Amino acid sequence: MSRYTGPVCRQCRREGEKLFLKGERCYTDKCAVVRRYKSLAPGQHGAAQKKAKEYGNQLREKQKAKRIYGLHETQFKNLFKRAEKKEGMAGVNLLVLLELRLDNIVYKMGMAESRKEARQLVTHGHFTVNGRRADIPSMTLRLNDVVALKDGSRSLEKIKDLIANLDNRQTVKWLDTDRSKVSARINAVPAREDVDFPFKEHLIVELYSK
Ligand code: SF4
Repeated sequence: MSRYTGPVCRQCRREGEKLFLKGERCYTDKCAVVRRYKSLAPGQHGAAQKKAKEYGNQLREKQKAKRIYGLHETQFKNLFKRAEKKEGMAGVNLLVLLELRLDNIVYKMGMAESRKEARQLVTHGHFTVNGRRADIPSMTLRLNDVVALKDGSRSLEKIKDLIANLDNRQTVKWLDTDRSKVSARINAVPAREDVDFPFKEHLIVELYSK
């Protein structure tokens, strides 16, 4: 299944709100949602969107989560099945599993402007997990796992630029980051309140429970 390669901002316009898919630009007045498309979906019929009904709301919430974390439909559904099998609330479990993806952790440790960029860094083999090369963005990490930049990648120009920007990026409290080593250890499993987007995850659960 191919990944969406069209204009990234179009996905935010479709959802009618900022999904923060483009890094720094999302926090400026250049954001497409801020500039002119607020609440308008893309396309010539964007302004004529009908009021979302129950199913529509559930679908939109799932699409938002899928787009923010950059997953395909099948990947997302499979992750939900895993979340359902775990103890606790399926919706919260789903968000925690999304947060614990390797590409998300590279993003949260400040090494990338967006999850998309983080995913690319991972697939290009620039990171290790517990000292072993890890190039699968969907890998789910666990408590005490350590993600680190591969030594051989430090000399690359692009990586040098990213390291130079590390201090400008905020990280999260469930990661112990060592900026000199460009590494992070998961010191706690993220809790619901650590997820920084206001998802209504119960709608996703309702959608998949039909
Ligand atoms: Fe979405 Fe960021 Fe584009 Fe704004 S700039 S529309 S938040 S991806």
